[in-house]
Amino acid sequence: MVGELERLGKNGQDFIVLGVDAPGFDQLMLKQKVLAYYLYRAAIAGHTLVDQQNHRHALEIRTFLETIHLNSEGGEPRAREAVLDYLKYIWINHGPYDHDSHVKTLPNDLTCEMLQQAADYAQARGAEFELRQGETLKAKLERLRPTIFDPNFEPIMTNQRKGDDIIATSSVNLYDRRLTQKHIDLLPPEWKQRLNVRFVFENGQAVPQVYKIGGLYGEDLDTITHFLKSARPHAESEEQQRGIQALIDYYNTGDEEKFREYSIDWLRSNTIIDYLNGFIESYMDPRGVVGQFEGNVSFVSDSTLIDRLAENALYFEKKMPWPDVYKLDKINKPVANVVNVIVETGDSGPVSPAAYNLPNYNDLRRDFGSKNIILLNIEEARSEKIREATINEFYLPEYRDLVRTSGDRARQWEVYMHEVIGHGSGKPAASLKVDPAVAIGRAYSSLEECRADLVALYHAGDTRLVEIGAFKPEEQADIMRAMYITYLQGQMNRYRMYEDDFVREAHQRGNQLVMGFLLEGGEKGGRDYGTKVISKDGNFYIRLVDMEKAHQGVGDLLGLLQVIKANGDAAAAAQIFDHFGTHVNPEWRRNIRERAAKLKIPNKSAIVFPRLEPVLEGNEIQDVRLRVDEDFTTQQLRMSRLRFNNRIPE
Ligand SMILES: [Zn+2]
Repeated sequence: MVGELERLGKNGQDFIVLGVDAPGFDQLMLKQKVLAYYLYRAAIAGHTLVDQQNHRHALEIRTFLETIHLNSEGGEPRAREAVLDYLKYIWINHGPYDHDSHVKTLPNDLTCEMLQQAADYAQARGAEFELRQGETLKAKLERLRPTIFDPNFEPIMTNQRKGDDIIATSSVNLYDRRLTQKHIDLLPPEWKQRLNVRFVFENGQAVPQVYKIGGLYGEDLDTITHFLKSARPHAESEEQQRGIQALIDYYNTGDEEKFREYSIDWLRSNTIIDYLNGFIESYMDPRGVVGQFEGNVSFVSDSTLIDRLAENALYFEKKMPWPDVYKLDKINKPVANVVNVIVETGDSGPVSPAAYNLPNYNDLRRDFGSKNIILLNIEEARSEKIREATINEFYLPEYRDLVRTSGDRARQWEVYMHEVIGHGSGKPAASLKVDPAVAIGRAYSSLEECRADLVALYHAGDTRLVEIGAFKPEEQADIMRAMYITYLQGQMNRYRMYEDDFVREAHQRGNQLVMGFLLEGGEKGGRDYGTKVISKDGNFYIRLVDMEKAHQGVGDLLGLLQVIKANGDAAAAAQIFDHFGTHVNPEWRRNIRERAAKLKIPNKSAIVFPRLEPVLEGNEIQDVRLRVDEDFTTQQLRMSRLRFNNRIPE
């Protein structure tokens, strides 16, 4: 069950589902396998937390559809298929909104009548639905109907559009529906910056509910904690053990200080088995503050090259194109690992990032550095056929061989540099008293992703990369050119996914900013940054006219963004993203979408992870086997089943 498993959407264009293996697991020591197993269960126990954060009906819809699906045998085939098809989108997005664009995803074929019919059929077969007091199945469906079927009802989960009340117009379940920006503005600062909280509307004001055992999401956190306790004695180092304990304390008390302690211990433990568990990234919150749950477990693969890059972090810092006052004087060598992941849940699965750099606390990064993880088996999961078709359709003929031969390496080093020397770089102005993320607000995530991308693009031609063995001297120019071309053309190709002329996802806003800035020639326009969009036989393509000048443009933008970040300049950040990073050219978008439709290229991928199976003797785990034997439906149903499950084996 590795490689392409299925496709979703019209012409299979919405998603490709890819199964991944985690080669090397069998060679781990027993103690490491046991640790991995417990952390894997802790990750799975939190899988549906992000559904609960996504929308107040998201988990209910998931459970409702799963119950129907599990009781659908012998039912009307069209309704059966339509339910499962929509359920797959709910699994992928953890709710009714697209994971990246935050716009509502309507069912492909499912109608309200079909859903009613399928639910009645399931009920007749003995299915038990969660119903509110006195509620009938019909009334439940009527209650969920607008969320599932009405495109105009709460259309956007996370709205960050300038001028809008971002709290009132976002349907994300981090805020009661009656709350507005004004209510949040009135909160004391410590609550405004809090990571693990939801706000309810009570007596005319916003009242915080903390995520903790005995508080909000208590039962889910209790199951997670159960497995963290089992994992703790098997930790590989003292720091890792302390980190697990801090995380347990955090879930017990809801005290964010404990999560910061966990983050420090996590940073200090450079172990073979690694994991994440917590409310971490904040793209779902229109304010960019509250974290959404994610969990994962991974083990180290070959990290030689990335480790050498990390050793040279200060060298690159000194060469950054921004004023010296915003440069770090010393950098604790960042931990940088290339890993294979065993599982990712919540915000990070089934739609997975290719890499991450954490923690997000800027002061911890300054004092303790950061950890960079590249997910090798995810990065390598793809369909060769789609890659070839994409190159032939979207790149100018003169670039196709270059992209074929150097595209993968360019992408690999772009990711390495983004994570290892990008996010960790730079320091805030001494006068800035709060975290830049707090000062900048809604544009921060995009700004930070963009800044890290630019660091990679800026240093791609540095000879130090050859010295550390990244590539041969004669390869470097090609790899740098391939990096710029794939970066810019890659962003244009993403237009195939956009339903309107707006870019919403944080990383993509960063890509769009770079593209717009180079094409328009800087903030005031008129500079020549050596890049063009050309039209050929009615199709649009990126052309890199002058590498030197494009590099200059990258440096100029990078300098600008660092100054904005260092000073927490919210107005400047908002302005530059509103100008360059938000709107796409409608004509280009139409053209890209037509070409993508012809080729039937899936927009995105979803991952099916391996499964761990403990071998028990009595209560002792004697071995853990890694299996790659599930399809997408089987895996997601199993994860839902394990929500409150403490048993071993499952
Ligand atoms: Zn990043």
